[in-house]
Amino acid sequence: MRKQVILSKQETSASEHVAKKSPVTKGQITDNRPSSVFQKKQIETMSLKPDTKESGFGQSSASPVQMVRAAPGMVTGITHLVKINGKSIYRGTETIQLEHGQVVIVDTDQRLRSRRGPNQEHFRAEDHQRGTHIYRWFRVIRIGERDVAPGTFIREDAFTFHLPHEEPERLHPNTAPSLDTQPGADPIEHHRTPEARSLDRLARGHWIPMLNTIRQSEQPPHIAMTVLGNRVHAMGNTGERPIPADWDAARRFGELMGSDTHLGRGDEQRRKRAKLRNKLVAHARGQYHPTGVTDPHTMNAIGHAIARPDHIHWGNSADPRKMHGEMHLQETILGGLHRRDIRLPRTRIQQQHISGVMLDCMFCHWAHAIFNQVIGRHHGVEITTGGTHSGIPNEWQAPQWLYQNDRAWAMFKAKLAAERIDATADDHGMVRLRKKASTKGMGLPQHGSDSEDEHFR
Ligand SMILES: [Zn+2]
Repeated sequence: MRKQVILSKQETSASEHVAKKSPVTKGQITDNRPSSVFQKKQIETMSLKPDTKESGFGQSSASPVQMVRAAPGMVTGITHLVKINGKSIYRGTETIQLEHGQVVIVDTDQRLRSRRGPNQEHFRAEDHQRGTHIYRWFRVIRIGERDVAPGTFIREDAFTFHLPHEEPERLHPNTAPSLDTQPGADPIEHHRTPEARSLDRLARGHWIPMLNTIRQSEQPPHIAMTVLGNRVHAMGNTGERPIPADWDAARRFGELMGSDTHLGRGDEQRRKRAKLRNKLVAHARGQYHPTGVTDPHTMNAIGHAIARPDHIHWGNSADPRKMHGEMHLQETILGGLHRRDIRLPRTRIQQQHISGVMLDCMFCHWAHAIFNQVIGRHHGVEITTGGTHSGIPNEWQAPQWLYQNDRAWAMFKAKLAAERIDATADDHGMVRLRKKASTKGMGLPQHGSDSEDEHFR
């Protein structure tokens, strides 16, 4: 199965420094598990293509014959291929846009180094100024089954040689909030990856015992969660109906997992909560394998948080600011971003998902969108969420970075004006509606949308 495919060499190397490292070891297919049907199919496809000649006698017989290592990789996130210009990738042109999950066949022997890094639309000048060829690019032979034009390259960090077990067309990344979203519309539910759904489920698993134990008028309306490193970070809203300071989250979550105490009333509610519990238990035991997982690291971190709820990092529920949980987590994420050294390669944009028991309100949604534009892109981070219920809160506290960043705060206030929202926004980031909004869209979500193809094994 693991034969190397020999092609005739189609191009000479470019002036941009040819990578001197030995062929990347991660390019070798090492996963021969029976479940890797998809990988095998790709490899078979490779050896059947008419332009692959094991004898080495290709069409362009004038060129010197050389070993070519063709390896399948999966695109992560969204990226553009670049057509080389003469000998320069930096001066090359963006061509085809590839989506998360698409498979490219790359030539691991044709790697070039270039100044050109991720997100040229914003960083072209920076890459020019730095001048060093610190990004590695691979020549693309095919996209799936389709040949691409000679001289087409993909950046090393835009794909992975670790292929998932599913057909790539089933894989979609999470969705980032948009500043174009308008208030008062129907809720907009984003597509959620299995990783995002698992994190939502964990948040809900911590919230159910609160509903069951705390008086209704005092129940925390929200718990938001995100995974940083190996750790799940969790936070409720503060200032109004916060999670009680003496709430023993680990013990209460343990009660939901290990007893029927919190299953609630009525057949339907009991059935739903038992189903959620079954999935959480299976996840912690390593027996939960939904289709479409591309980030096993995050799945492991969530599994660990289910097994060891005392390892979850909860923010300070006594924070006096009247701020939504996801805004607290946005501050936490920001706190982990350090000043970038422009001499080093930029990380391309990685998604950072914030889950929760509620969809975002309209203001949090916009705040995430502004974060992504003003801060995230410079640090290679894009916050994604489960969507917005598009309702507007009567009072909303902006996180500190937002109202202290002139450009960001101006964007937020411009959006308020554009949507004709009659509100005051003070110097401390408190946004108050002059007239109370209707409560439309502020209700609690059902989140019953786990896909049916989730399964245990
Ligand atoms: Zn909010």
